Order: sequence, then structure tokens, then C-alpha cells
Amino acid sequence: MHPPGRFMNRGLMDRAGQDPGPPSVIRAIVFDLDNTLTDFMRMKEAAIQAAIDGMIDAGFQRPREELRRRVQAIYDERGLEFQRVFDELLEREFGEVDPKILASGIVSYRRARAAELVLYPHALMTLLELAKRGIKLGVVSDAPRFQVWLRLCTLSLQHLFDAVVTFDDTGERKPAAAPFREVLRRLGVEPKDSLMIGDWAERDVVGARSLGMRTVFARYGDTFNTKESGADYDVNDVLELVGIVDRLNGRDPATESSAPGGTHVR
Ligand SMILES: [Mg+2]
Repeated sequence: MHPPGRFMNRGLMDRAGQDPGPPSVIRAIVFDLDNTLTDFMRMKEAAIQAAIDGMIDAGFQRPREELRRRVQAIYDERGLEFQRVFDELLEREFGEVDPKILASGIVSYRRARAAELVLYPHALMTLLELAKRGIKLGVVSDAPRFQVWLRLCTLSLQHLFDAVVTFDDTGERKPAAAPFREVLRRLGVEPKDSLMIGDWAERDVVGARSLGMRTVFARYGDTFNTKESGADYDVNDVLELVGIVDRLNGRDPATESSAPGGTHVR
């Protein structure tokens, strides 16, 4: 782990003493959504627990731990985005769906989701600082299209991004090249002039690198205990991204304040 405020500068160091090739300026940054901008796993767990309490309250007589295990088993089979998980739980238990128990679970789930789906610290500040610099902002997510837009609207980010590419837009998941190509096409930016940040090294970093994008690993969102990210930079706080972009674009953060309210000169 690196202390907050520091980041690995492998990309620049590797090029020390070597021909850097044609100069590039970062004109677009592409964000993964879940566990990069928002702490998705924390939200999901809180929503599941709330739903279980809601179903028990409405008459589902089973211990909480047992219901949690059964919900997980359905998610393991069907994927974490499976929308009928509580319907299926009730069908397996009773052979039919009790509407009172289902409604109670879903209402509790939605309340908890709305309360718990929040941005990581400094995420909004980072997005606004990048937007102030005229950098285009994109999202590429493996989640279904409507779920992505629900999350963006819950986070009040629906107007901020210039391009949002979801699983349904290409039918392929990261690290396939298609979703990265599509977001860059919509942004109108070449891979070498762009940067990808994500929490899943095998998908976000590998996929973006294969196209020639620069890469940042969101170590703060890592749930896999990733040892070696393979990215150009690892960050422990998303705000470090602003400093990385300023350096790559030849801005001196020491003389040009990147703090909110500071002076920005291009
Ligand atoms: Mg992610």
C-alpha cells in the first residue's frame, strides 16, 4: 500500500532516457463505474441486508444468515445484476411468490440502495476539476445499460459524461477491445490521448492497455487484493488523477493550484 497522496509514476519513469515518440496530451478520461466512482459492493450488501429484513418483517420466517446465503447462491448462479433475485428466492421456498413479502423486500432494497449508493471521497471534485480543464469524460461499464443509467442518475452524474458505454452497447465485456473502442469513438479521441481508470486489473487495465490507452488502477476500489495492477499508475485516492493528468499535460501543480477555487490557466 502507498500512503495517500503518492502514486506510482511508472509510465513517465519508463520513458526516461528513451525516445518518447510523438507528444500526446490527455484529452479524455474514461472511468469504470462500479468500485471506481462508486462503492458498489458496499451499496449492494446494505441493500441485500435491508431486503432480507423487509422480507422477515413481512412474514418470511428464516434466520437472516440463512437468507443471506440463499440470496448469494442465486447471485452466484445468475450474476450480480440479476433483477428477480427475491422472486426466485420466494419461488424456491414456497413454490410461488408471496406479493406481500416480495414487496416488502423490494421497497427495503430500494430505500437502502438510494441511501447507500454514493460516490467515493473526492470523486465529484475530481470529475469537476477534469471538466474545468476541458477534458472529455467517459464511462465504460460491463453492467446492463439501464442499471448504469439508474446509478448515474442516483449519483446526479447523468449530465456530466460525454459518452457512456454499457454492456448492451457492444455486447462485449472488458477486457474486449469493443467497449473501449466504442467509448473513444464517441469521445472523438485517439487511444494515446486518453486515459482509463478502473478497479479491475484484468479487465479495465488489460483492455485499455491493449488499445494503447494510458491506465490508472483504482487501488482504493480493489476487492481482489490485487498485487500487481500492470497499470501506468496506482492511486489510493481518485483525486490523484488530477495531478497525473496535469503532469502528463505539462501543467505544474505546484504553481497552478488544482484546489477548488484555484486559478486555472491553460
Ligand atoms: Mg469496477
